[in-house]
Amino acid sequence: MQKRLFIPGPVNVREDVLEQMTRPLMGHRTKDASDLQRGISRKLQKIFYTKNQIILSTSSGTAMMEGAIRSFTKKRAAVFSNGFFGTLWYEMALRNNIQADLFMGKKGEAITPHMVEEVLSTGKYDLITITHNETTTGITNPMEDLAKILNKYPDVVWCVDGVSSIGGIKLEIDKLGIDVCVVSSQKCLGLPPGMAIASVSEKAIARAREIDFRGYYLDYLELYETIKKTDYQYISTPALPMMYAMDYQLDKILAEGLENRFKRHEKLAEMTRNWARKHFILYAKDEWASNTVTTVTNTLGLDIDQLNEELGKRGFQISNGYADLKNKTFRIGHMADCTLKELQELLDTLDEVLGFNYKDKKIAI
Ligand SMILES: *Cc1c(COP(=O)(O)O)cnc(C)c1O
Repeated sequence: MQKRLFIPGPVNVREDVLEQMTRPLMGHRTKDASDLQRGISRKLQKIFYTKNQIILSTSSGTAMMEGAIRSFTKKRAAVFSNGFFGTLWYEMALRNNIQADLFMGKKGEAITPHMVEEVLSTGKYDLITITHNETTTGITNPMEDLAKILNKYPDVVWCVDGVSSIGGIKLEIDKLGIDVCVVSSQKCLGLPPGMAIASVSEKAIARAREIDFRGYYLDYLELYETIKKTDYQYISTPALPMMYAMDYQLDKILAEGLENRFKRHEKLAEMTRNWARKHFILYAKDEWASNTVTTVTNTLGLDIDQLNEELGKRGFQISNGYADLKNKTFRIGHMADCTLKELQELLDTLDEVLGFNYKDKKIAI
């Protein structure tokens, strides 16, 4: 049975968007392919609030995170984490023989400006990574506050994981001075998995030029220079069907209006949080609770896999907690093109499965 996905990626993709992927292929070394990539990049610049170069990668977001830490760390990376994806940057650094230190936020809390100041003031670091929206714990970091500290350190390259926020939560790349921001297709942008996107500043590119071993496929400088030298060609054969879908879906996102889209995500999150608070507690403190995914502490000790099985019979799927938070938490993804009505249907089904609606049931069946 087809399930409606309320997981933090991949997300439900609208039929008309999926259909774009069946369009006839084109040669990737053609002017048409350049036009396609250029058009996509211009639209993405609006969504990222940036004039920086947009780079497409036929990979998932993880790859472009790894590419970033390898392309831009010369001295040492300061990795700030609120959960699994934050810590992943640290893992990647270690496996690429890049010097790095890991700094964890407190349980359920965001990274604070004070933490960042303390770390950067040591002068040991030339790159910092921050997850805008940590999908495992449902925490959104206060990027505007953090930017005030970061902007005091112009030699530090600021890399942001915006995988589960861009297109769902506002992040103004240029205003905040973010050098690199990575996004995956299958989260808030409402596309299938298969492509990653990054914005990259001139400052970051200048840094990459000072680094000897950046690899090839995920080398930001190679990707960047290919675009500049060839007017929007890609280094190898890109996932063209995905690019058709992306080009089309980005128009739909811009037609909805970014502010409207962020507002919708806010409402979806409020609905989910209100439902969760009635029966459970939220993992993230209120002020940092994410607008794209809600992590709920499983205070009732439910078997989440079993809950999902019951939901599955009714055509829905949510997410168990990630890694060590499995069964201790569960997650409801509310991102991309999800409507309030669709979310309400999920919450009603959860109530039905969990027997929560028994007392106030309005319609007797
Ligand atoms: C999903 C996710 C990733 C990993 O993205 P992939 O596209 O699966 O590689 C990284 N960071 C965050 C915050 C995510 O939500």
